[in-house]
Amino acid sequence: MNIALGSFLNNLTKQGSIDLHVHSTASDGSFSPEEVFILAKENQLNCLALTDHDTNEGVLELMDNHISLDQYMQDQQMNLWKLSKQIESHNLLNSPLIIPGIEMNVEFEEQNVHLLAYFSGYQIKNLNNFLKLQRKNRFVRNKKMINKLHELNIPIPSNTLDPTFSEPVPGRVKTAKWLVKNDYVNSIQEAFDFYLGDNKAAYVPRKKVKIEEALQVIDEANGFPVIAHPHQYGWCQSQELLNQKIQHLLKITQLGIEVFHSDASLEQQNLLWQYAEENNLFFTAGSDFHGANKEGHDMYTASDSPFNHYGKK
Ligand SMILES: [Zn+2]
Repeated sequence: MNIALGSFLNNLTKQGSIDLHVHSTASDGSFSPEEVFILAKENQLNCLALTDHDTNEGVLELMDNHISLDQYMQDQQMNLWKLSKQIESHNLLNSPLIIPGIEMNVEFEEQNVHLLAYFSGYQIKNLNNFLKLQRKNRFVRNKKMINKLHELNIPIPSNTLDPTFSEPVPGRVKTAKWLVKNDYVNSIQEAFDFYLGDNKAAYVPRKKVKIEEALQVIDEANGFPVIAHPHQYGWCQSQELLNQKIQHLLKITQLGIEVFHSDASLEQQNLLWQYAEENNLFFTAGSDFHGANKEGHDMYTASDSPFNHYGKK
């Protein structure tokens, strides 16, 4: 793994003026990648990581139009350590640097876990084959789901789940919306209860990606992995449980944890932060901004750094 990058992300998190977990219209956010960048600039962030779900398309678009970590270091002839020192000395950059990232859905101990991965530049393109395979799996699953609905005499058009610009990753929710709109059920909940929920009439299990597999792909692309919002999987119930989960992960590889997150309570963030400090784990901060698609997840700003609130007591 790219330990230098992990260390850099950890230093940035302590400095503030960053957001390392943000979504755009390339996945399920409501802001285009460019709109996300403009907001990050307005918020006076030094660095912005765009981390869309299972796609690097938005981030590649941003990298073509703005300066990413690798490019800045090349232009300034410096390495991550020096850049970290520059930011630490409050020698602020006039425009946010792009940190290419992605958020992947993976399976770990029979739980669905989100794994963030960061890169310093175009190495993120090395994920393309892996992402293409995932898209193919999703396509096959959607096709099977539509066939099952046809067998149930529900004539949902075969192209309903084709990806569109506004919905690049369609699946069960889009199917549920179609069923509501066409009066087969009264609500999305009913659509899941009758047809689409686990083991219901039109259910097709998702082909899961094991965390080991994703970590290997990230390693081969010289990225650094971070477990997104560990509190969302119930791991913050006790220090023992958290320790058990993280130690199991560390046996696979070195990785970081997302300590500061819009959904995590003050208590959870403090538990995670202290755990990271005591165990020498790299930790990060991310708002999980989705624009209008998720309330209470405002992008961080230079003056509103989560580490200032929670990290220092
Ligand atoms: Zn996210």
